[in-house]
Amino acid sequence: MRLPAAVVASVPAERWQQDLTPFLSEWRGLFFAQADGAVCPQSTGEVASLLRACSAERVAVVPQGGNTGLVGGSVPFTAEVSAALERPVFDMSAYAAVIVLSLTAMNRVRSVDPENFSMALDAGCVLADAQAAAEGVNRYFPLSVASERQCQIGGNLASNCGGINVLRYGNTRDLVLGIEAVTAQGEVINQMTSLRKNNMGYSLKDLLVGSEGSLAIITAAVLKLFPRPTEQVTALLALQQPDDAVTVLAQAREQLGDLVSGCELMSAQAFEFAMQYGSDCRSPFSQSSAWYLLLEFSGFESTLPQRVSALMDDLVTKLALQFSLAVEAAEREALWHIRKSIPGAQKHAGASVKHDVSVPVASIPIFLERAMAAVTDLMPEVRPCPFGHLGDGNLHFNLSQPESMSAEAFLAQWQDFNRVVHDLVIELGGSIAAEHGVGQMKTGELQHYLDEGSYAMMTAIKQALDPHNILNPGKVLSSGATH
Ligand SMILES: Cc1cc2nc3c(=O)[nH]c(=O)nc-3n(C[C@H](O)[C@H](O)[C@H](O)COP(=O)(O)OP(=O)(O)OC[C@H]3O[C@@H](n4cnc5c(N)ncnc54)[C@H](O)[C@@H]3O)c2cc1C
Repeated sequence: MRLPAAVVASVPAERWQQDLTPFLSEWRGLFFAQADGAVCPQSTGEVASLLRACSAERVAVVPQGGNTGLVGGSVPFTAEVSAALERPVFDMSAYAAVIVLSLTAMNRVRSVDPENFSMALDAGCVLADAQAAAEGVNRYFPLSVASERQCQIGGNLASNCGGINVLRYGNTRDLVLGIEAVTAQGEVINQMTSLRKNNMGYSLKDLLVGSEGSLAIITAAVLKLFPRPTEQVTALLALQQPDDAVTVLAQAREQLGDLVSGCELMSAQAFEFAMQYGSDCRSPFSQSSAWYLLLEFSGFESTLPQRVSALMDDLVTKLALQFSLAVEAAEREALWHIRKSIPGAQKHAGASVKHDVSVPVASIPIFLERAMAAVTDLMPEVRPCPFGHLGDGNLHFNLSQPESMSAEAFLAQWQDFNRVVHDLVIELGGSIAAEHGVGQMKTGELQHYLDEGSYAMMTAIKQALDPHNILNPGKVLSSGATH
């Protein structure tokens, strides 16, 4: 398919990329996408010009940031998938063409304001660069994920990224003060405010955060900064059961309040994958355990290490657990490195079926018990590899293929695993899309589990803002498409 001439001419010719390959594959390798072009605009004006032409010519536009999303949202919808992913097939044939719009070239830090505790950034700014810009003025930007050297601020907003500091600082949504975006028709929305209080009409930033590129192209944002903690302590605990993890977190918060900033649970399988396949991962324990809990404490008082030690002593008396404390930066990083290595390490263990779910924190033990039983009933040799952000009730209930089975045979049961796990999540009052979003992978699941009223309202919003459905078609919502 050829791109309409008006679309090609809407931005300088050099913005169009010769090699489309990097824009068409995604981190999990599940979707084999195709596109008629990939473009890297260098300004908001260029994005607006491009969108005006795409809207007029009915060209589908797939926004892409760092391309680290895990639900196929950042690559064009494709019927060709590697696994038995049953989701509604979206008809792309009515579009004149499909392009990937990468924000990579829009990567400026526009301004950092240490007194207002805020900074303004282009959407293509890499998350690690945003963190560094804050550190440069002795401020702290708390959004942190294992993909932070690749993912971009626009992608973080569009996916309402979570990560390891949500317990104290919230999701990306809680960190956004202002936003700049371009609509499907090419109109610029300028809400680049750094205000903490602003009730001038509907909160458009809240509408666009988490919209996964389906409502507008985010071109910039104003983000909150925080005082940079001066004291940090990391603790790794070896536990017998998930109930102990919930008890530990509750007691830690009771004794130390907001000094607890992160809380990550790891199953023995996840921990072992990190040891086996991660580079330079070392367990501080001589014996393995059924579960591990990583706790992060941060604050401003030099007594923090003593207070954490006192907490650990109380916990040892109560739960007979083992623990390792780290205060020095290198030692703390070594403990975190184990946790951060898990997603990459699991890739080496063969094919995986992943469930990014959340339930109320107190329901995590019952969820794990019942979900483990349900998946092993379906496939006795399956290797459950749960880990995740226990402090937020968010688990990655991942399943690795049995060593004795082919990837194809394992993945053929994808939908069966999804059904038992997601049914249980909903029964426990949880969410089947906790922090990775819906993308193209979970459109069928969203429609299956969301109440009719909510789904209808989402469809109405999409139709109002993008009547020709040119923005990321086939993502988030599978219905309501008009071309
Ligand atoms: C190793 C690893 C660890 C991860 N850990 C976490 C974690 O702890 N927590 C978590 O939440 N996620 C995690 N992720 C997922 C991913 O990194 C995040 O969702 C991240 O926010 C995606 O950012 P991105 O720039 O890569 O976006 P992309 O993957 O490029 O895009 C994600 C979605 O946003 C849309 N989009 C991107 N940019 C824009 C824009 N400017 N305007 C409008 N729409 C846009 C895309 O169309 C797509 O739908 C992890 C991923 C990996 C590979």
